[in-house]
Amino acid sequence: MTRIRGYKYRAYPDKKQREFFSKNFGCCRFVYNHYLAMRKAKWEEWHDTMSYSETAKDLANNLKKEHEWLKDADSTALQQSLRHLDNAYQNFFKKRSGYPKFKKKRSVQSYRTMNNKGSIRIEGDGIRLPKAGKVKIVNTIKFEGRILSATVSKTSSGRYYISLQVEEEYELLPNKGGEIGLDAGLTALYTDSANHKIENPRTLSKHEKRLRRLQRELSRKKKDSKNREKARKRLAREHEKAADIRNDFQHKMTYRLARDNQVVCIEDLNVKEMMGNHRFARSIADASWSEFFRKLEYKMGDRGGILIKVPRTYPSSQRCSCCGRQNRKVRDLSIRSWICPECGTQHDRDVNSAVNILAKGLEMLAS
Ligand SMILES: [Zn+2]
Repeated sequence: MTRIRGYKYRAYPDKKQREFFSKNFGCCRFVYNHYLAMRKAKWEEWHDTMSYSETAKDLANNLKKEHEWLKDADSTALQQSLRHLDNAYQNFFKKRSGYPKFKKKRSVQSYRTMNNKGSIRIEGDGIRLPKAGKVKIVNTIKFEGRILSATVSKTSSGRYYISLQVEEEYELLPNKGGEIGLDAGLTALYTDSANHKIENPRTLSKHEKRLRRLQRELSRKKKDSKNREKARKRLAREHEKAADIRNDFQHKMTYRLARDNQVVCIEDLNVKEMMGNHRFARSIADASWSEFFRKLEYKMGDRGGILIKVPRTYPSSQRCSCCGRQNRKVRDLSIRSWICPECGTQHDRDVNSAVNILAKGLEMLAS
Protein backbone atom coordinates (compact mmCIF):
# COMPACT_ATOMS: atom_id res chain seq x y z
CA MET A 1 0.00 0.00 0.00
CA THR A 2 1.09 3.58 -0.48
CA ARG A 3 0.32 6.69 1.49
CA ILE A 4 1.33 10.34 1.47
CA ARG A 5 2.99 11.58 4.60
CA GLY A 6 4.59 14.86 5.66
CA TYR A 7 8.05 15.10 7.22
CA LYS A 8 9.14 18.34 8.81
CA TYR A 9 12.76 19.29 9.47
CA ARG A 10 14.39 22.24 11.16
CA ALA A 11 16.70 23.75 8.55
CA TYR A 12 19.90 25.77 8.90
CA PRO A 13 20.36 27.71 5.66
CA ASP A 14 23.60 29.68 5.16
CA LYS A 15 23.63 33.44 4.54
CA LYS A 16 23.19 33.16 0.77
CA GLN A 17 20.34 30.72 1.15
CA ARG A 18 18.63 32.91 3.74
CA GLU A 19 18.82 35.78 1.25
CA PHE A 20 17.35 33.61 -1.47
CA PHE A 21 14.53 32.40 0.79
CA SER A 22 13.66 35.91 1.84
CA LYS A 23 13.55 37.01 -1.81
CA ASN A 24 11.50 33.97 -2.79
CA PHE A 25 8.98 34.51 0.03
CA GLY A 26 8.63 38.07 -1.19
CA CYS A 27 8.15 37.06 -4.85
CA CYS A 28 5.50 34.45 -3.96
CA ARG A 29 3.68 36.95 -1.78
CA PHE A 30 3.87 39.56 -4.55
CA VAL A 31 2.44 37.15 -7.13
CA TYR A 32 -0.30 36.01 -4.76
CA ASN A 33 -1.36 39.54 -3.88
CA HIS A 34 -1.13 40.75 -7.48
CA TYR A 35 -3.51 38.08 -8.78
CA LEU A 36 -5.77 38.39 -5.78
CA ALA A 37 -6.18 42.09 -6.63
CA MET A 38 -6.75 41.18 -10.29
CA ARG A 39 -9.35 38.51 -9.51
CA LYS A 40 -11.03 40.84 -7.06
CA ALA A 41 -11.25 43.67 -9.61
CA LYS A 42 -12.54 41.32 -12.28
CA TRP A 43 -15.25 40.10 -9.97
CA GLU A 44 -16.30 43.57 -8.89
CA GLU A 45 -16.39 44.90 -12.44
CA TRP A 46 -17.65 41.96 -14.49
CA HIS A 47 -18.86 39.45 -11.92
CA ASP A 48 -16.43 37.12 -13.58
CA THR A 49 -13.77 34.84 -12.13
CA MET A 50 -10.30 33.76 -13.32
CA SER A 51 -9.10 30.18 -13.34
CA TYR A 52 -5.73 28.97 -12.10
CA SER A 53 -4.51 28.42 -15.67
CA GLU A 54 -5.52 31.93 -16.75
CA THR A 55 -3.48 33.44 -13.91
CA ALA A 56 -0.55 31.10 -14.66
CA LYS A 57 -0.60 32.15 -18.31
CA ASP A 58 -0.71 35.82 -17.36
CA LEU A 59 2.20 35.31 -14.97
CA ALA A 60 4.39 33.83 -17.71
CA ASN A 61 3.35 36.19 -20.51
CA ASN A 62 2.96 39.49 -18.68
CA LEU A 63 3.97 39.80 -15.06
CA LYS A 64 7.38 38.14 -15.43
CA LYS A 65 8.16 40.46 -18.35
CA GLU A 66 7.13 43.55 -16.43
CA HIS A 67 9.15 42.56 -13.37
CA GLU A 68 12.52 41.11 -14.36
CA TRP A 69 13.40 40.27 -10.75
CA LEU A 70 10.70 37.58 -10.67
CA LYS A 71 13.04 35.50 -12.85
CA ASP A 72 15.36 35.04 -9.86
CA ALA A 73 12.61 33.25 -7.96
CA ASP A 74 11.83 29.55 -8.02
CA SER A 75 9.29 29.51 -10.86
CA THR A 76 7.52 26.37 -9.60
CA ALA A 77 7.00 28.13 -6.28
CA LEU A 78 5.41 31.11 -8.04
CA GLN A 79 2.96 28.78 -9.79
CA GLN A 80 2.23 27.12 -6.47
CA SER A 81 1.24 30.43 -4.91
CA LEU A 82 -1.30 30.78 -7.73
CA ARG A 83 -2.58 27.31 -6.80
CA HIS A 84 -2.89 28.45 -3.18
CA LEU A 85 -4.81 31.49 -4.31
CA ASP A 86 -7.12 29.33 -6.41
CA ASN A 87 -7.67 26.97 -3.45
CA ALA A 88 -8.53 29.96 -1.28
CA TYR A 89 -11.15 30.94 -3.86
CA GLN A 90 -12.53 27.40 -4.14
CA ASN A 91 -12.91 27.31 -0.35
CA PHE A 92 -14.66 30.65 -0.47
CA PHE A 93 -17.04 29.51 -3.25
CA LYS A 94 -17.86 26.35 -1.28
CA LYS A 95 -18.46 28.53 1.81
CA ARG A 96 -15.69 26.78 3.73
CA SER A 97 -13.89 30.04 4.45
CA GLY A 98 -14.15 33.79 4.02
CA TYR A 99 -12.96 35.88 1.09
CA PRO A 100 -9.21 35.40 0.38
CA LYS A 101 -7.03 37.92 2.19
CA PHE A 102 -3.86 39.69 1.11
CA LYS A 103 -0.67 38.18 2.51
CA LYS A 104 1.34 40.32 4.90
CA LYS A 105 5.06 40.25 5.46
CA ARG A 106 4.66 39.87 9.21
CA SER A 107 3.02 36.44 9.37
CA VAL A 108 4.78 33.11 8.86
CA GLN A 109 6.57 33.25 5.55
CA SER A 110 6.56 30.21 3.33
CA TYR A 111 6.60 28.86 -0.18
CA ARG A 112 5.93 25.48 -1.68
CA THR A 113 7.76 23.96 -4.60
CA MET A 114 7.15 20.72 -6.48
CA ASN A 115 9.66 17.98 -7.16
CA ASN A 116 10.44 17.98 -10.84
CA LYS A 117 12.54 14.95 -11.84
CA GLY A 118 14.71 15.04 -8.73
CA SER A 119 14.88 18.82 -8.33
CA ILE A 120 14.17 18.16 -4.64
CA ARG A 121 16.29 15.40 -3.12
CA ILE A 122 18.11 14.24 -0.01
CA GLU A 123 21.88 14.69 -0.10
CA GLY A 124 23.84 13.55 2.94
CA ASP A 125 22.91 15.83 5.82
CA GLY A 126 20.81 18.15 3.71
CA ILE A 127 17.94 18.67 1.34
CA ARG A 128 18.57 20.00 -2.15
CA LEU A 129 16.01 22.56 -3.30
CA PRO A 130 15.59 24.31 -6.67
CA LYS A 131 17.71 27.48 -6.85
CA ALA A 132 18.66 27.29 -3.14
CA GLY A 133 21.08 24.35 -3.40
CA LYS A 134 21.69 21.95 -0.53
CA VAL A 135 20.19 23.21 2.76
CA LYS A 136 21.59 21.81 5.99
CA ILE A 137 19.36 19.73 8.29
CA VAL A 138 20.22 18.50 11.77
CA ASN A 139 17.79 15.62 12.34
CA THR A 140 18.47 12.39 10.52
CA ILE A 141 16.25 11.79 7.53
CA LYS A 142 14.65 8.38 7.86
CA PHE A 143 11.92 7.91 5.30
CA GLU A 144 12.06 5.93 2.11
CA GLY A 145 9.87 7.06 -0.72
CA ARG A 146 9.25 9.55 -3.47
CA ILE A 147 9.36 13.26 -2.57
CA LEU A 148 6.39 15.09 -4.10
CA SER A 149 6.95 18.61 -2.82
CA ALA A 150 8.77 20.78 -0.30
CA THR A 151 7.51 23.72 1.73
CA VAL A 152 10.08 26.13 3.11
CA SER A 153 8.91 28.28 6.02
CA LYS A 154 10.36 30.87 8.35
CA THR A 155 8.67 31.50 11.69
CA SER A 156 8.38 34.95 13.21
CA SER A 157 11.25 34.20 15.60
CA GLY A 158 13.50 33.38 12.65
CA ARG A 159 13.52 29.57 12.61
CA TYR A 160 13.52 27.80 9.25
CA TYR A 161 11.72 24.56 8.43
CA ILE A 162 11.45 22.35 5.38
CA SER A 163 8.38 20.10 5.15
CA LEU A 164 8.54 17.31 2.62
CA GLN A 165 5.51 15.57 1.23
CA VAL A 166 6.50 11.98 0.57
CA GLU A 167 4.72 9.09 -1.11
CA GLU A 168 5.79 5.89 0.58
CA GLU A 169 5.09 2.18 0.74
CA TYR A 170 3.87 0.89 4.08
CA GLU A 171 2.62 -2.20 5.84
CA LEU A 172 -0.15 -2.18 8.43
CA LEU A 173 1.13 -2.35 12.01
CA PRO A 174 -0.88 -4.30 14.59
CA ASN A 175 -2.88 -2.78 17.45
CA LYS A 176 -4.05 -4.30 20.73
CA GLY A 177 -7.72 -4.29 19.75
CA GLY A 178 -9.16 -2.03 22.47
CA GLU A 179 -12.18 0.27 22.19
CA ILE A 180 -12.24 3.65 23.83
CA GLY A 181 -14.20 6.89 23.93
CA LEU A 182 -12.61 10.31 24.44
CA ASP A 183 -14.16 13.47 25.79
CA ALA A 184 -12.23 16.56 24.67
CA GLY A 185 -11.29 18.61 27.70
CA LEU A 186 -11.10 22.25 28.51
CA THR A 187 -8.69 21.78 31.39
CA ALA A 188 -7.47 18.24 30.66
CA LEU A 189 -6.48 17.34 27.09
CA TYR A 190 -9.08 14.59 27.25
CA THR A 191 -10.83 12.14 29.57
CA ASP A 192 -11.31 8.58 28.37
CA SER A 193 -14.08 6.07 28.97
CA ALA A 194 -11.73 3.93 31.09
CA ASN A 195 -11.57 6.71 33.68
CA HIS A 196 -8.24 8.34 32.82
CA LYS A 197 -7.83 12.08 32.72
CA ILE A 198 -4.97 13.11 30.47
CA GLU A 199 -3.67 16.48 31.59
CA ASN A 200 -1.47 18.68 29.44
CA PRO A 201 2.13 18.67 30.69
CA ARG A 202 2.93 21.04 33.54
CA THR A 203 5.77 22.61 31.60
CA LEU A 204 3.17 23.82 29.11
CA SER A 205 1.31 25.90 31.68
CA LYS A 206 4.64 27.35 32.83
CA HIS A 207 5.30 28.52 29.27
CA GLU A 208 1.76 29.84 29.00
CA LYS A 209 2.21 32.00 32.08
CA ARG A 210 5.37 33.37 30.54
CA LEU A 211 3.49 33.95 27.27
CA ARG A 212 0.91 36.12 29.01
CA ARG A 213 3.66 38.14 30.68
CA LEU A 214 5.56 38.65 27.41
CA GLN A 215 2.32 39.62 25.68
CA ARG A 216 1.74 42.34 28.30
CA GLU A 217 5.32 43.55 27.95
CA LEU A 218 4.96 43.78 24.19
CA SER A 219 1.78 45.83 24.40
CA ARG A 220 3.57 48.39 26.59
CA LYS A 221 6.40 48.97 24.11
CA LYS A 222 6.33 51.96 21.79
CA LYS A 223 5.30 51.25 18.20
CA ASP A 224 8.15 50.75 15.69
CA SER A 225 10.78 50.88 18.42
CA LYS A 226 13.78 48.54 18.63
CA ASN A 227 12.60 47.30 22.00
CA ARG A 228 9.25 46.42 20.56
CA GLU A 229 10.92 44.32 17.87
CA LYS A 230 12.97 42.55 20.56
CA ALA A 231 9.88 41.90 22.66
CA ARG A 232 8.04 40.60 19.62
CA LYS A 233 10.84 38.10 18.94
CA ARG A 234 10.91 36.95 22.58
CA LEU A 235 7.17 36.35 22.43
CA ALA A 236 7.44 34.44 19.16
CA ARG A 237 10.21 32.22 20.58
CA GLU A 238 8.10 31.46 23.63
CA HIS A 239 5.13 30.55 21.42
CA GLU A 240 7.34 28.12 19.53
CA LYS A 241 8.64 26.51 22.72
CA ALA A 242 5.08 25.95 23.92
CA ALA A 243 4.12 24.55 20.52
CA ASP A 244 7.08 22.12 20.63
CA ILE A 245 6.01 20.78 24.02
CA ARG A 246 2.40 20.43 22.95
CA ASN A 247 3.45 18.69 19.76
CA ASP A 248 5.68 16.15 21.51
CA PHE A 249 2.97 15.42 24.02
CA GLN A 250 0.32 14.93 21.36
CA HIS A 251 2.60 12.55 19.48
CA LYS A 252 3.10 10.49 22.63
CA MET A 253 -0.61 10.29 23.48
CA THR A 254 -1.83 9.59 19.94
CA TYR A 255 0.84 6.90 19.57
CA ARG A 256 -0.48 5.12 22.66
CA LEU A 257 -4.11 5.42 21.62
CA ALA A 258 -3.39 4.02 18.17
CA ARG A 259 -1.21 1.22 19.54
CA ASP A 260 -3.79 0.07 22.11
CA ASN A 261 -7.10 0.46 20.28
CA GLN A 262 -8.91 -0.80 17.22
CA VAL A 263 -11.72 1.73 17.73
CA VAL A 264 -11.46 5.26 19.11
CA CYS A 265 -14.63 7.36 19.34
CA ILE A 266 -14.46 11.11 19.79
CA GLU A 267 -16.87 13.96 19.73
CA ASP A 268 -16.95 15.91 16.49
CA LEU A 269 -16.25 19.31 18.00
CA ASN A 270 -16.98 22.19 15.74
CA VAL A 271 -13.92 24.13 16.77
CA LYS A 272 -14.89 27.26 14.87
CA GLU A 273 -18.22 27.46 16.61
CA MET A 274 -16.66 27.03 20.02
CA MET A 275 -13.97 29.60 19.30
CA GLY A 276 -16.75 32.11 18.74
CA ASN A 277 -17.68 31.69 22.35
CA HIS A 278 -14.90 33.71 23.92
CA ARG A 279 -14.84 32.02 27.29
CA PHE A 280 -13.67 28.79 25.73
CA ALA A 281 -11.51 30.19 22.99
CA ARG A 282 -8.23 30.04 24.88
CA SER A 283 -8.63 26.59 26.34
CA ILE A 284 -9.78 25.19 23.03
CA ALA A 285 -6.80 26.71 21.28
CA ASP A 286 -4.58 25.33 24.03
CA ALA A 287 -5.92 21.83 23.78
CA SER A 288 -5.55 22.26 20.00
CA TRP A 289 -7.95 19.45 19.52
CA SER A 290 -7.99 19.54 15.74
CA GLU A 291 -4.23 19.05 15.56
CA PHE A 292 -4.55 16.21 18.03
CA PHE A 293 -7.26 14.67 15.87
CA ARG A 294 -5.11 14.92 12.74
CA LYS A 295 -2.24 13.06 14.43
CA LEU A 296 -4.56 10.43 15.83
CA GLU A 297 -6.24 9.89 12.48
CA TYR A 298 -3.10 9.01 10.56
CA LYS A 299 -1.63 6.91 13.39
CA MET A 300 -4.87 4.91 13.62
CA GLY A 301 -4.75 4.53 9.84
CA ASP A 302 -1.22 3.07 10.05
CA ARG A 303 -2.58 0.27 12.24
CA GLY A 304 -5.86 -0.31 10.45
CA GLY A 305 -7.78 1.14 13.39
CA ILE A 306 -11.04 3.08 13.14
CA LEU A 307 -11.62 6.61 14.35
CA ILE A 308 -15.29 7.51 14.73
CA LYS A 309 -16.62 11.04 15.07
CA VAL A 310 -19.80 11.21 17.12
CA PRO A 311 -22.01 14.16 16.08
CA ARG A 312 -22.00 17.07 18.47
CA THR A 313 -25.77 17.13 18.69
CA TYR A 314 -25.62 13.90 20.68
CA PRO A 315 -26.10 14.96 24.36
CA SER A 316 -23.13 12.94 25.62
CA SER A 317 -22.68 14.85 28.86
CA GLN A 318 -26.35 14.91 29.88
CA ARG A 319 -27.11 11.22 29.45
CA CYS A 320 -26.61 8.79 32.29
CA SER A 321 -24.28 6.15 30.86
CA CYS A 322 -25.84 3.48 33.11
CA CYS A 323 -29.59 3.87 32.58
CA GLY A 324 -29.83 6.29 29.65
CA ARG A 325 -31.85 8.92 31.49
CA GLN A 326 -31.25 12.45 30.16
CA ASN A 327 -30.55 14.96 32.92
CA ARG A 328 -30.87 18.50 31.56
CA LYS A 329 -29.56 20.08 34.74
CA VAL A 330 -26.09 18.89 33.76
CA ARG A 331 -26.06 21.35 30.84
CA ASP A 332 -24.43 23.82 33.20
CA LEU A 333 -20.70 23.37 32.50
CA SER A 334 -19.71 24.18 36.07
CA ILE A 335 -21.27 20.90 37.29
CA ARG A 336 -18.31 18.53 37.34
CA SER A 337 -20.01 15.54 38.99
CA TRP A 338 -23.63 14.49 39.52
CA ILE A 339 -25.88 11.72 40.75
CA CYS A 340 -28.43 10.25 38.36
CA PRO A 341 -31.97 10.86 39.73
CA GLU A 342 -33.14 7.65 38.07
CA CYS A 343 -30.59 5.02 39.03
CA GLY A 344 -28.52 6.82 41.65
CA THR A 345 -25.15 6.31 39.91
CA GLN A 346 -22.56 8.94 40.75
CA HIS A 347 -20.93 10.36 37.62
CA ASP A 348 -17.81 12.32 36.86
CA ARG A 349 -19.03 14.61 34.10
CA ASP A 350 -16.18 13.88 31.68
CA VAL A 351 -15.92 10.13 32.24
CA ASN A 352 -19.68 9.76 31.81
CA SER A 353 -19.47 11.75 28.61
CA ALA A 354 -16.58 9.62 27.29
CA VAL A 355 -18.50 6.40 28.04
CA ASN A 356 -21.50 7.76 26.12
CA ILE A 357 -19.32 8.81 23.20
CA LEU A 358 -17.90 5.28 23.02
CA ALA A 359 -21.37 3.69 23.14
CA LYS A 360 -22.73 6.03 20.46
CA GLY A 361 -19.66 5.49 18.28
CA LEU A 362 -19.97 1.69 18.50
CA GLU A 363 -23.66 1.97 17.66
CA MET A 364 -22.76 4.05 14.58
CA LEU A 365 -20.12 1.51 13.59
CA ALA A 366 -22.61 -1.38 13.85
CA SER A 367 -25.23 0.22 11.62
ZN1 LIG B 1 -28.93 6.60 35.59
